[in-house]
Amino acid sequence: MPINHVAVVGGTHGNEPTGPHLLRLLAEKGIPASFSTFALHPVLANPLACSRNVRFVDQDLNRSFLTTDLADDSLQQYEARRAKEINQLIGPKGNAKTDLILDIHTSTANMGTTIILQSSSPFQMHLAAHVQSALPGVFIYAISAEAYTGGCDQPFLPSIAETGIGLEFGPIPNGILRHDLINRSYAATLACLEFIEQANRGSAPLPRQPVAYFEHVKTVPFPLDEVGHIDAVIHESLQDRDYFPLNPGDPMFVHRDGRVVHSSESEILYPVFINEAAYYPQKVAFSLTRKRTITL
Ligand SMILES: [Zn+2]
Repeated sequence: MPINHVAVVGGTHGNEPTGPHLLRLLAEKGIPASFSTFALHPVLANPLACSRNVRFVDQDLNRSFLTTDLADDSLQQYEARRAKEINQLIGPKGNAKTDLILDIHTSTANMGTTIILQSSSPFQMHLAAHVQSALPGVFIYAISAEAYTGGCDQPFLPSIAETGIGLEFGPIPNGILRHDLINRSYAATLACLEFIEQANRGSAPLPRQPVAYFEHVKTVPFPLDEVGHIDAVIHESLQDRDYFPLNPGDPMFVHRDGRVVHSSESEILYPVFINEAAYYPQKVAFSLTRKRTITL
């Protein structure tokens, strides 16, 4: 199936200005003239949150795209309405006019350049493997609907399209721009578009080696005190160690009295989004993934 329409989405979270900046760069610089087999559609997803430099106004836009919520007219919060507008613009989900969505995010965690896939389908893996071969330090993180919600639907913006890709760049504080991350996000976006052009022409080479990726297992909450406040911090030996192995018994948290909480998992897992600022309201400390490989 050719990819005819590609949406590049920025500002889904209003305090991540790298995406909106990238949209302006793409508008000014354009894309290589050799990319001629698809149309590119820029979308500024959450303009009100962007203007206020906050993640969202009423609710997280990137959790507002469940099919049942898009059909529910009683949901009238700003992001619920904005989700329906975006669904009209580049969807509708399930029968979208847009074949592929690239949704640009940043993380306060040490996530490097992460490609977030909503399935481990061969096409999505092929795209991610292409980006990985084109750029240094690229990780592939697969979050299936089953692993995330236990169901078959996803609340994420990219789930509108048949192929929805999240691009996550870090570490960077919320609300600021950095030259290096802007360059990284531009290069990764162009690498995705380059793959789409090659795939449309039937000339995208398959990787010769198996592709390693990280499959979402679960989120890990902070230890809480009896009234529900966060009662321990990420242990220094875990901080910034996104995508490094966490062995059974390794330190995860430390309480004020020095008491250490160790991993009670029975296998080696790989933490991601360690100490992500956006997850503090949910009291989530990090997510755990399992490292897998796929041969394409
Ligand atoms: Zn984000």
